[in-house]
Amino acid sequence: MKIGKDAVVGVNYELTVEGQKIDASGDAPLTYLHGHNMMIPGFESRLEGLTAGEKYDFEVPSKEGYGDFNENAIAELDKAIFLVDGTMSTEVFEGAQLQLTNQDGQPMVGVVKAIGEDKVTMDFNHQLAGKDLHFTGSVAEVREATAEEIEHGHVHGPGGHNH
Ligand SMILES: [Zn+2]
Repeated sequence: MKIGKDAVVGVNYELTVEGQKIDASGDAPLTYLHGHNMMIPGFESRLEGLTAGEKYDFEVPSKEGYGDFNENAIAELDKAIFLVDGTMSTEVFEGAQLQLTNQDGQPMVGVVKAIGEDKVTMDFNHQLAGKDLHFTGSVAEVREATAEEIEHGHVHGPGGHNH
């Protein structure tokens, strides 16, 4: 069958950005439920119509990937919030990835860009924001999702949820 809405898809993939390998599926293919926003939109739309065994090679522009780089997602935060018993947490250094909680209680992952005298500059953009993504790989498996998988919005069994 062809990849389309409500198909369970197993894909082998390699992601390169600006010539650098960023990510790849491991020994087992990545399994996901197609058409449920589990993958970035440009990835799902380009796989549509492929069948098991087919190879692919395509570029996903940033706007269909992790979005544009947003200047407003760079924040200067008071150093005080990073202090533990009056001293800077050892987890805070330039390049460190930190999970903070925003006013709404939502977790936000950001990278420490700079540590100033009383401010810490953090970038909450996705690390691949503004980047074009190059995917290569092959389709390992395509099958119809069960009614239960569609209801849950995820894949069950190997490579998926077990419950
Ligand atoms: Zn489930």
